[in-house]
Amino acid sequence: MNHLPKKLPIQIHTMQKDTVLFELINKELSRQRNGIELIASENFTSLQVLQAMGTVPTNKYAEGYPGKRYYGGCEIVDEIETLAIERLKKIFNCSWANVQPHSGAQANGAVFLAVMKPGEKFLGLDLSMGGHLTHGSPANFSGKTYHALHYGVTKEGIVDYEQLETIARKEKPKMIICGASAYSRDWDYQRIRAVADEIGAIVFADIAHPAGLIATGLLNDPFEHCHIVSSTTHKTLRGPRGGIIMLRHDFENPWGLKTPKGATRTMSNLLDLAVFPGSQGGPLEHIIAAKAVAFGEILDSSFKMYGQQVIQNAQAMAKAFVDRDYNLISNGTDNHLMLIDLRNKNLTGKKAQETLDKANITLNKNAVPFDDKSPFVTSGIRVGVPAVTTRGLQPKDMETIVSMIDKVLMNCEDEKQIDAVKQEVKSFMQAFPLYPELP
Ligand SMILES: *Cc1c(COP(=O)(O)O)cnc(C)c1O
Repeated sequence: MNHLPKKLPIQIHTMQKDTVLFELINKELSRQRNGIELIASENFTSLQVLQAMGTVPTNKYAEGYPGKRYYGGCEIVDEIETLAIERLKKIFNCSWANVQPHSGAQANGAVFLAVMKPGEKFLGLDLSMGGHLTHGSPANFSGKTYHALHYGVTKEGIVDYEQLETIARKEKPKMIICGASAYSRDWDYQRIRAVADEIGAIVFADIAHPAGLIATGLLNDPFEHCHIVSSTTHKTLRGPRGGIIMLRHDFENPWGLKTPKGATRTMSNLLDLAVFPGSQGGPLEHIIAAKAVAFGEILDSSFKMYGQQVIQNAQAMAKAFVDRDYNLISNGTDNHLMLIDLRNKNLTGKKAQETLDKANITLNKNAVPFDDKSPFVTSGIRVGVPAVTTRGLQPKDMETIVSMIDKVLMNCEDEKQIDAVKQEVKSFMQAFPLYPELP
């Protein structure tokens, strides 16, 4: 082996024994290379993030936290996890972070576990108005275990802060969640904190979607106004699939929250306990290693340019849609995504998603505010630019993409037209190689 160059091996998907499985992985790589990825929650990690995920820390049990583990042999994973934590703290100017949640939903589960007792009230954005499942959907633990109350958006598609305030004052929820999965505008965190202070509520910001734009200072900073902040790491942060929880200021909690044993602790301590042992066992140290790599990339000045490019692309795309008489919720976007109501085009979200899929353009159907169709059909689509921006597409390319989307949507039953666009998509994306180092 020592004749090999001393650099990290790239993943060679063609040399594995399990050819059946690795064939499938290769097919997925081709699918990603040959398509236009517009799912707002998706992105493409760097090759080194990808490499870090497929490494030996996966073999290590490390229940606990750096320096306080329940297993031996944790010296190195302690260093890995500490590096991830320190880099993350630097990105968001935080005093504390937990990098162990396996996903965004797990991170949110831990926040609930730390601050809420079953049956207690909280207030979050309605799923049908752009909120997330973990913000109180009846199908989710959050809605099943706790008493969920919801605010929505106005007819114009902006968060209805007045409604939020009215419900907060009347119901006095213990926690107010801000953040969304399908919302194209920035948040007034300060205003939410003001009403929370009136009623003594905890403000929890779930920045799963816009975190990368917040990290680069391109959107409002939730950390000064929100007590707790959670995020995914795989959306605009462009890291491996995972979750994180952060505090800018740790605090003795004025709510008198207690550990399962009845001790009063600081918020950071309660959150750590809620992740492990509260809701997870062994952390995924290989994923935490990849998180550390991604956080290092975010700290590099080039990531700010990425964030700026995301916003420029989203603006250009929004304009291209509006120019073709597409109906954007809130008439535009401040971030990386837009929500489009297709009712004036006589199309459902389901039909649009399925037809675009045939042309190698992936996005998702999405309920629009005040939708009259079921969540399986919907009247809208959600379109996001983080992934195409990573591939290097520029604002002028957004016009090209929208014209291809329009061609497909205006010719939904014309298989020939759809196939022609598919060929166009494939050749267009060749100019933006994805993982060129991989076979
Ligand atoms: C994506 C998302 C999550 C959950 O992330 P998973 O990693 O899929 O569990 C949580 N909250 C919001 C607002 C999201 O958009």
